[in-house]
Amino acid sequence: MLPTRPRLIFLALTLGICSIAAATDDQPTTSLPYTPSLDIKAMDRSADPCEDLHQFACGNWLVNNPIPSDQSRWSTYGKAYVDNQRYLWGILQENAKDNPQRNATQTLIGDYFAACMNTDKIDEQGSQPLSDDLQAIAQLEDKKQLGGLIGRLIKHTDASAFFMGLGSQQDAEDSSLMIGGIHAGGLSLPDRDYYLEINENKEATRQAYVAHLAAMFELLGESAEQAGTSAATVMRIETTLAKASLTRVERRDPHKVYHRKSLQELEQMVPAINWTAMFKQTGLNPAPWLNLSQPAFITETQATIERESLDDLKTYLRWGLVNTRAQLLSKPFRDQDFAFYKAHLRGITEQSPRWRTCVSQVDNQLGEALGREFVERSFPPERREEARHMSMQIQQVMAERINQLAWLSPETRAQAQDKLKKMRNKIGYPNKWRDYSSIKISRDDYFGNVTRATGFDLDRQLARIGKPVDLDEWFMSPATVNAYYNPSMNDINFPAGVLIPPLYDSKMDDAPNYGNTGGTIGHELIHGFDDEGRQFDADGNLRDWWTGQDAAAFKERADCIRDQYATYHVIDDIFINSELTSGEDIADLGGLVLAWEAWKMETADQQLEPADGFSPEQRFFVGFAQWACGGERDESLRLHAATDPHSPPKYRINGVVVNMPEFARAFSCKADAAMVKPVEKVCRIW
Ligand SMILES: [Zn+2]
Repeated sequence: MLPTRPRLIFLALTLGICSIAAATDDQPTTSLPYTPSLDIKAMDRSADPCEDLHQFACGNWLVNNPIPSDQSRWSTYGKAYVDNQRYLWGILQENAKDNPQRNATQTLIGDYFAACMNTDKIDEQGSQPLSDDLQAIAQLEDKKQLGGLIGRLIKHTDASAFFMGLGSQQDAEDSSLMIGGIHAGGLSLPDRDYYLEINENKEATRQAYVAHLAAMFELLGESAEQAGTSAATVMRIETTLAKASLTRVERRDPHKVYHRKSLQELEQMVPAINWTAMFKQTGLNPAPWLNLSQPAFITETQATIERESLDDLKTYLRWGLVNTRAQLLSKPFRDQDFAFYKAHLRGITEQSPRWRTCVSQVDNQLGEALGREFVERSFPPERREEARHMSMQIQQVMAERINQLAWLSPETRAQAQDKLKKMRNKIGYPNKWRDYSSIKISRDDYFGNVTRATGFDLDRQLARIGKPVDLDEWFMSPATVNAYYNPSMNDINFPAGVLIPPLYDSKMDDAPNYGNTGGTIGHELIHGFDDEGRQFDADGNLRDWWTGQDAAAFKERADCIRDQYATYHVIDDIFINSELTSGEDIADLGGLVLAWEAWKMETADQQLEPADGFSPEQRFFVGFAQWACGGERDESLRLHAATDPHSPPKYRINGVVVNMPEFARAFSCKADAAMVKPVEKVCRIW
């Protein structure tokens, strides 16, 4: 996956997968395969759960599911997504046939897929699809024209590769207001630290990156010498921008990424850019104000434009264009892009099969059209109701816990209850499907299709500015195997893809389902109350509703979790950066505590029986652990330690249960076992 940045500027706090999928059995399917939510065969029963629950629950899964050659990591979620993709492949292959029986949605997604699969046609075209934009860059005569040109490039790519990205968002301090936003971009390595950190690994990556830049410039027709100079230019500009960028930990502070600016203020800060021309090109309305996520970065953009020559700025823009479009071009571009971003940075040895690239592209660009087909076939209304029942129950448990927590004062408690009461659950799919009918899709113009669908989505986003907030809007497609909490909307969102086996399994009893899906629902709910989410109020406004004493008590408890995770080793001399993972770690623990109590509530009047030699309590914890079976390549571990706000899977399991005496009791663990903490050291917030 390219180092993309969020197109929509909102704080998505997800359950957390990014890397996707594998080619094990390369055939489309007509039904989804069934894997139970508790799989005895996946366990390593020779391991001691009290020493390593993850190994006990997932040991055989890891043996039986080696990381596929086209993947950087592999997990229960990743595998479930590939199963979904293979099933979507069947749907798309059927709809790709030029058949007059197809309805409008089927024609749209089928023709898009057919064009994507036609690599002969794509390869014939070389870099030709870029020629108009390359020419527009070449014809730039004056730095004063940069604003309009950057606007044009953003309009065609919706990328943040040209210094910055544009979008719309709810105003952090007035969530009823949709405003425009400008966020820092302009970097093509995965993080600012890749440009700045002094160590052997990062130095090797910088050298490989410069070689990659040169190779891409050569593919665009430059001589080896020119390409070398161009590569050095891009590296110099990006390194300067990296220095002015906030770190990922700083970006977790919602105050640090919220700065209201009027158009006039923006023009004063960065006179080098003709903002009016840029906004005209993109259709962004800057009134009444914009959010500028990183003012220091924008100030550096001004300095860069002043300092660099016109030719060097053109080189930087040319790179941004070819880099964001490389996967849409002919094979030499796709291969070179793979060699750096997938092979070097992630350790992947083989490119994904074309069908999967195309299924992902349809899901990315026309996700609700494809999702509609997916939902109709595999997510019946009763699943939605079951998930809603579980969510309501978990919310009820949270309400009771808030009332009982001794460290919360009555004032803060009342505000927390209000926030919880107003939190909405969105389950499965949107109530109203997005209408893509205005996008022109051609069966033999893949690049054009992508550009038009990109423009459609950017227009859709920017059209929201000044309009009422659409509370029904989703930021994930229905087939996605993931979930998120949105603090500005104060809602939790569970796509259909995360509510089917092996994650939610209606054939299975409650214990593993509450451990797995219950834990996920609890996780997303707790994001509204983690160190980041707690700064937003019931209406999604960034407003401090905590008494000083309660905030201090919260921080003390959050520090307990942060200190615990900081001791976990990842690879080489790298430990978890728990300032980055803090919100996710808090959500993992709080989520499972809620799921446990919800399960107890659901089964209060039932006589629960052991199964396969495990008590119901043990099956709850094994079901929980099996959501996170998974392994990862060394290169990818290094990458994610720097960029991923989620801890590695093993610690997302073991790091939680050490804080749950319920676990030690369920497995009769001895007091000195690795998965047991002395009572006084147990971390709990919610
Ligand atoms: Zn999360």
